[in-house]
Amino acid sequence: MNRKYRKTVIAGNWKMNKTPSETKEFMQNLKALLPKGRWCDVALCVPAICIPAAVRAMRETRVGIGAENCNANPSGAYTGEISTGMLVDAGCKYVIIGHSERRAMGETDQDVNAKVLSALEAGLIPIMCCGESLEQRQSGITSEWIAMQIKLGLQNVPEEKIRKVVIAYEPIWAIGTGMTATPEQAQEVCESIRTVVRKLYTSKTARTVSILYGGSMNEKNAFELLAQPDIDGGLIGGASLVPEKFVQIIEAANQPTV
Ligand code: PEP
Repeated sequence: MNRKYRKTVIAGNWKMNKTPSETKEFMQNLKALLPKGRWCDVALCVPAICIPAAVRAMRETRVGIGAENCNANPSGAYTGEISTGMLVDAGCKYVIIGHSERRAMGETDQDVNAKVLSALEAGLIPIMCCGESLEQRQSGITSEWIAMQIKLGLQNVPEEKIRKVVIAYEPIWAIGTGMTATPEQAQEVCESIRTVVRKLYTSKTARTVSILYGGSMNEKNAFELLAQPDIDGGLIGGASLVPEKFVQIIEAANQPTV
């Protein structure tokens, strides 16, 4: 982390877990446990149906609520979809875009880019995900693959808006598997992502972009991962479903930075 130049963000991704009633209960428990200090931004991205309950429960706290996906179109004949404008109106601050589980359902880099542009236009903070498969890592093409995802995902994002984008590096082989990337592996890729952003924009801008690590981050390994200079927070799946674990990860972000 580097709090001098950029924000630290601890974000949860609930995936398809919890009902609206369970959301209310979780948020009440979380509120009681939230540390008093304000060393990082905290986000919880929840299933669309849980957004109203989450927003209601976390009003007047420093926890921002987010969605797990969006549609890039402003409105129209897209049955079952939710626009970025709708998410803003519902009280969302964040939206996860391009999670590998959605990419596995057919989402392309072009879709990701359209969603990022739409989220920024609506005033949401996009958490844009990228990550390599185990095969790609083993064949040595991780950095090229990630660079391509970043370049395509950020196409036409103007310099003044890139500071709003949060990038999440999530190696697919580490998501939900308990196989965390080592702090060195995660740092290496997060640093390479910052280099890509530097080449696309400027070094000053690249310094301001928060890059998160995600993939089996938990209360035990968070401190070491967050101690890396280019890891500015975490995108957390499983451990964000348990208030005590999520709070411990927030607490792990309370450490000296460069
Ligand atoms: C995720 O869903 O983005 C994720 C990182 O999941 P987990 O923490 O469970 O690996």
